[in-house]
Amino acid sequence: MMDHCTPAPSVEPGFDAPIRPHWAELAHAKGFRIARRIRDRSWLELECRTCRGLTPMRLWVLTSAQPHCRPCMEARWRKTAQAAGLTFLRRCPDHRHYAHYRAPCGHEVRRQFAFVERMARSETDALCRICMEARDAAEAEQRGWRLLGPDPRGTSHYRLYAHEDGCGAEQRIARANMQTGRFSCGTCGEDWPAAPSALYLMRLDLPGLGRVVKLGYSRDPWSRMTYQLGIGGQGRAELLAVVPMPTGREAYNREQALHARLKTEIPQHIVPRAELEGVIRVVSEIYRAEAEPRILGLLDDLADGVLDDEAADHAPVAETGRDS
Ligand SMILES: [Zn+2]
Ligand SMILES: [Zn+2]
Ligand SMILES: [Zn+2]
Repeated sequence: MMDHCTPAPSVEPGFDAPIRPHWAELAHAKGFRIARRIRDRSWLELECRTCRGLTPMRLWVLTSAQPHCRPCMEARWRKTAQAAGLTFLRRCPDHRHYAHYRAPCGHEVRRQFAFVERMARSETDALCRICMEARDAAEAEQRGWRLLGPDPRGTSHYRLYAHEDGCGAEQRIARANMQTGRFSCGTCGEDWPAAPSALYLMRLDLPGLGRVVKLGYSRDPWSRMTYQLGIGGQGRAELLAVVPMPTGREAYNREQALHARLKTEIPQHIVPRAELEGVIRVVSEIYRAEAEPRILGLLDDLADGVLDDEAADHAPVAETGRDS
């Protein structure tokens, strides 16, 4: 660590030539003293009048620009690094806008000076790449995905993931969406498994089938009713009940448990698949109108928390979570 009261001694080879008086005046006006000439005819060694530290400088920089004192600059970098929670190690030899730092996690990181200044002003965070990847991988794991690496298209807030607990497909997903679970798998369709959802009971009047009820779940039961059932102007639909669920995954599990229960209790009210063909596209059961009071009762219990333990015990593990 440099002590600014006793500047580091010069290591530069001297160049035996006089110092022109007008150079000395220029140097003084710009905050320096010319210590001596070094290397060859185009170099000087400047001593900072503030810190007395030495900086090798090209002659033309002195005559045509404002030279910067290297020890003063390093002192500023150390101070900025400290404010950013980093330890300044050394300048990057490959790029003058970068330096190497020790991150709080112990890893060494290479960062742009401007970035460290933003960190010092708390405008961005200090994670090193190793810790950032560990964080991103942990976030993905929580959602059943695996972090593969940075976005192949180079967008900084996107990552490449694989659907580990699902179909295995690779997909670019914004990190913020991975954090909140607000995305769908483009391959298997698993849909926002962590976003809020709702169970619903819908009454449908369908041509050739009459009045039936549909128990399902959706992030948006109303838009599901209007657009997604593919019944358009041919039938009529009415939402009878909507029970909000904290996540799509939980909604899926609850729905499966309810269908399993209804299959035991009122199998006679399940509309046979053959009757649905060409009338409505569904993946789970549709019930005759007679089932309506019983299903409403179950949804009421669920909303009141009465079904909680029971449903949790019977719920299958969700593998896919499409609207149904
Ligand atoms: Zn200085
Ligand atoms: Zn780290
Ligand atoms: Zn998938």
